[in-house]
Amino acid sequence: MEKSVKKIILIGLDGASPQIIDHLIKKGLLKNIAKLIKKGTFIDALCPYPTITASNWTTIATGAWPGRHGVTGYNVHHPGDSLDKIYSGFNTAECATEHIWEAAEKVGKKSILVNYETSWPPTIKEGIVIDGGGPNFQDDFHKITPDIVFTNEAEIYEFAYSNISITDSDTVKINKSNKICSAILKFRTSLKEEKEYFAEWNDESEEITIFKNKKKSKILTSVKKGNWSEPAFDKFLFDGKKVDTVFKFKLIHLPDKENDSFKLLCTSMVPTNEFTYPKSLGPELVEKFGPYHPRGGWESSFAVDPETYQEYIDMYNNWITKASKYLLAEKDWDIFFAITHTPDYVNHLYMRYYDPITKDKGPFSQEQCISYMERAYESTDKMVGEILEHADDETLVVVVSDHGGKAWLFDIDIRQILIDKGLMVVNPDNGQVIWEKTKAVPQRACYVYVNLKGRDPQGIVEPGEEYESVRNQIIEAFYDYVEPNTKLRPFSLALKSEDARVLGLYGPRIGDIVYALNAQFGHEHGQGLPTSQFGIGSLGSAIIMAGPGIKKGFRHKGMTGIQDIVPTLCYMADIPFPDGCEGAIIYDALEDPSFKMRKITKLEEALEKLKYAYERQVSITHSRF
Ligand SMILES: [Zn+2]
Repeated sequence: MEKSVKKIILIGLDGASPQIIDHLIKKGLLKNIAKLIKKGTFIDALCPYPTITASNWTTIATGAWPGRHGVTGYNVHHPGDSLDKIYSGFNTAECATEHIWEAAEKVGKKSILVNYETSWPPTIKEGIVIDGGGPNFQDDFHKITPDIVFTNEAEIYEFAYSNISITDSDTVKINKSNKICSAILKFRTSLKEEKEYFAEWNDESEEITIFKNKKKSKILTSVKKGNWSEPAFDKFLFDGKKVDTVFKFKLIHLPDKENDSFKLLCTSMVPTNEFTYPKSLGPELVEKFGPYHPRGGWESSFAVDPETYQEYIDMYNNWITKASKYLLAEKDWDIFFAITHTPDYVNHLYMRYYDPITKDKGPFSQEQCISYMERAYESTDKMVGEILEHADDETLVVVVSDHGGKAWLFDIDIRQILIDKGLMVVNPDNGQVIWEKTKAVPQRACYVYVNLKGRDPQGIVEPGEEYESVRNQIIEAFYDYVEPNTKLRPFSLALKSEDARVLGLYGPRIGDIVYALNAQFGHEHGQGLPTSQFGIGSLGSAIIMAGPGIKKGFRHKGMTGIQDIVPTLCYMADIPFPDGCEGAIIYDALEDPSFKMRKITKLEEALEKLKYAYERQVSITHSRF
C-alpha cells in the first residue's frame, strides 16, 4: 500500500526561477535538485504580484493572496498614515491570516522554522523558530551591527555604507611606530552603543592581534592575512541589556611593500540568546556551529572581493544546513520549513552580467559572473541535498522559490513621470514632496497613491469625480510614456485598485493604481509580472514536490501558483486549512487526485459490513454489547 504523508520538509530558494534551474541542470550542475525533479513533479508556477519577497513567502506559508494576508509588498503601508510612511513586511504582526504552522499546532503537530523570512515574531507556542526576519539589515529583529568593513580605502567605505545607512563608524587610520602598526576599530551599533577594539601587528608579520581595549589587557582574537578568525566573543547592548555576541573577522588586506591597503571584515552581530525561539536554543546552536550569519554577507558584498563573498555565502548556507540537520535529527517535528536567500543575493549582484543578453553592461566579465553565480547555486544545491537526507518515505518534500530573477536594461523613474505630468510637485533643492500641491505619489514597487482628502493626512484630491480623474491621468501618463533609450513603452499594465483583484491584490493595503513593467525594465524582480521572461531569466516561481502520492518525472505548467502549496500540504498531511487560505490543491501533481475520496468510500463500505455483522450477531444472541 502507498505510504501516506506523515511529515513535511519545505526548502525555500529565494529568487531561483524554473528557467535558471533548467539552465544550470543542463550544464550538469544542481545534482541534488535534479535528482529531486526526477523523483517528483516540477512546476513552472505563477507567483503573486509584486514578484517580491515578503509578500510571497507570506503567501507560501499561508496559502493566501497578498490582498487577503495584507503583506502587499516588501513593505506595507497602513491606511491613514502619511503616504511616505511604510513598515517592513517581514513581521508576522503584519499578516492578517493564519500560517500553516499555526493551523498544524491546533492538531498537535510541531513545526521547525529555520531562517523562514516571514516567521518572526514567533506565532507558535510549541516548536522552534530560528531568526525569521528579512534579507536586509533593516528587516532584522535581532540586529546589533551589520557587517562592517574596516578599511583605509575611504571610497570603498563610503560606497559600501552611504547607500544603506547602517552605521557611521569611521574609516580606519593606520598608525606606525618603529615596526609596530596599529589601528582603532570603532563600532557604533544600531542601538548607538560605541565600542573600540585595538588591532596591532608587526610590520613584517601577516597576522594581526585584536585587543578588546587599547591597554591590550584582553585579547579578543587574532587573524592571519587572507584568513577568517576563530569565533570572537564579547557582550553588546541589546534590548536594554548586555548580551553575548559571537562574530568573526576576515583579514582581507594588510599593508605590504606593494599595496598599503588595509581591509578587515567583521561579520554582522546577533544576540546569541535572542534570535531563536525558544531562547535557550540560540547558545546551544552557536556553541555547536559557531556564529549565525543572518544575511550571508549581503551588506558587505559591495566592499569585499568576490572570493570573500563566496566564502561568506558558504558559511551562511553551511550554518543553516548544520542547524537544520541537527534539529531534524534531535527534536520533535512534523513540519520543517527553511529558506536560503543565496540565489536572490547573487541574482542581484551578478544576473545582469551573467546573462548573455546584457553581458556587456557591467563591471564584471561574464566569465567571472558564471563562476560566482554557479558556485553560489551549487552551495545552495549542497544544502538541499544534505537537508533532504532527513526525508524518509513518509515525508512530502517541497523545494520552492518565492519569485525568479532576470537581467534588465533600464530602470523607470516613476516619480519623474508623475512630476512631468504635474501630478507630483517636489522641492527642486531637496527633492522633498510638496504635499499641498501633490495629487499622486509612487509608493513601494508597484503602487501609485492618490493624495486623497479624508483618507490621507495631507490629502488634497476630492473623493469622487476628481479622484477618478487623477487615476485616469496616471494611467494615461503610464501608457503614453516612451522610455528614451529603447523607445519602448515600459508599462505592461496600469490598473485601478478594484481591477487589481485579478492579480490577488485587493483590500485597504494596496495603492489606487497598480502598475507593472515589461521584462526589460525595472530591476532583477519585483516590478515585472510573474510571467516575465528576459534572456535566461524569468520571474515565476519553481515548485518541486516529491514524496508519497506525488507524480514522478512530471513537468507541469498551468495556472498553479505558490498559493496552492499550503492547501496541497494540508490535504496530503491531514492538517487543517489555515484561516484565510485561498489556494487550491495541486491535483495535477498527485498520482491519484481522488485517493482520499476512494479511501472514504472504502471506509464507508467497511463500516456497512461491520454494521451488518454486528446486527447478525445481535440477532442470534439477543444481546447488545
Ligand atoms: Zn525573494
